[in-house]
Amino acid sequence: MDIKVVKFGGSSLADAKQFEKVAAIIKADPARRYVVPSAPGKRFSGDDKVTDLLYQCYDHASKGENIDAEFQKIVDRYNDIIRDLGLDFSLDNEFAQIKSAFLFHAGRDYAASRGEYLNGKILAEYLGFPFIDAAGVIFFNEDGSFNAKLTNTILSAKLRTMHNAVIPGFYGAMPNDTIRTFSRGGSDITGSIVARAADADLYENWTDVSGFLMADPRIVTNPKPIHIITYHELRELSYMGAGVLHEDAIFPVRYAGIPINIRNTNQPDAPGTMIVPDSKHPSYETKEIVTGIAGKKGFCTITLEKDRMNDEVGFGRRVLEIFEKHNVCFEHLPSGIDTMCVILNKRDLEGIQDMIVNEICQTVEPDSIAYDEDLALIAVVGRGMVKAKGTASRVFKAIAMADVNIRMIDQGSSEQNIIIGVSESGFETAMRAIYQEFADDNAIH
Ligand code: ASP
Repeated sequence: MDIKVVKFGGSSLADAKQFEKVAAIIKADPARRYVVPSAPGKRFSGDDKVTDLLYQCYDHASKGENIDAEFQKIVDRYNDIIRDLGLDFSLDNEFAQIKSAFLFHAGRDYAASRGEYLNGKILAEYLGFPFIDAAGVIFFNEDGSFNAKLTNTILSAKLRTMHNAVIPGFYGAMPNDTIRTFSRGGSDITGSIVARAADADLYENWTDVSGFLMADPRIVTNPKPIHIITYHELRELSYMGAGVLHEDAIFPVRYAGIPINIRNTNQPDAPGTMIVPDSKHPSYETKEIVTGIAGKKGFCTITLEKDRMNDEVGFGRRVLEIFEKHNVCFEHLPSGIDTMCVILNKRDLEGIQDMIVNEICQTVEPDSIAYDEDLALIAVVGRGMVKAKGTASRVFKAIAMADVNIRMIDQGSSEQNIIIGVSESGFETAMRAIYQEFADDNAIH
């Protein structure tokens, strides 16, 4: 029988009504055996996410402030769910333990992790599934990075002994047994880790949207849904700002070749978006040229010019070593015969940009060097672009017709993405123009 790992986001488990939908989804398919919940999210716009309440409450406790009222708000969120589900079950012991741990400064990660822990306890009780504390099966290394090997060994052995289980998302244990969390939204990562350890056939990630859209709906009106996307395309798009799934959630399942299906808890019949392994999957073939468009503002460029730069062996390496020394990653590196342009995230250069520019001048003595911080990047991504003649010209023409100047172009050799740099003021216009150009290729199937 197939095994599915199902992860439910915070809005899918924000109150008892949402729990009921989640239980109906799980019970509708016996393959949905392992369940990864988030902490309760917002019930309505302006509401609090329990994780945020936990962080705030812990911060106040660590300053020695009284947290009674704040902590009670968290307790009430869970008790409302328990009561409205009609469960004969109490988390009072856990609440007392957690509150005293806050007062004894048990750590910010510990505090945040309790959102998933408590929600997992309720969900396990409601479904009648056993509960597995993530601290006993998900492990981090001393330096805080995820310990994939140990986790996979322990977790897969554990899951082999259990037909069903609820494993709370977002956290695991450090080698000294303290709790550590992934970054925000990290329950997606836990779901992916569990799918890999269970050797699942599918990782279903249930949220409050019916999958990915071709472009950001805050910029493009009513963008078309994406039905199938490869891991590679998704990685390009999410790196450039497309939300829905935590960027790091791709790695464990991608490694194991397990597809991810993004689904909507509030519209369980919608097929959502299927994220499939690159090239092996039958759905890899596509008629669509562009799968999606994403972009971000907030980039800057350092442009160097030097006569006969192309003859100077090691020029590029010496420039890049300066960024490495300051622990700054570069994003792109378009270059000409006597020019080299380093594109960086503005945030990473804050406070050190003059120092870096000076060091570059001393190290490689360029004829000129310029720093410019008005750059937005747009990624046009699609496996259908490979060998599709004329795609770049359509992208550039659409941007030109929208009266936006292109400042940088970069096409990866995989031919699955074209990155375009425009000024921040032209960003939204260029995004809309590219979408309009390609949207009609993507007929809804
Ligand atoms: N509850 C955590 C957060 O709000 C993790 C998650 O929901 O994935 O970031």
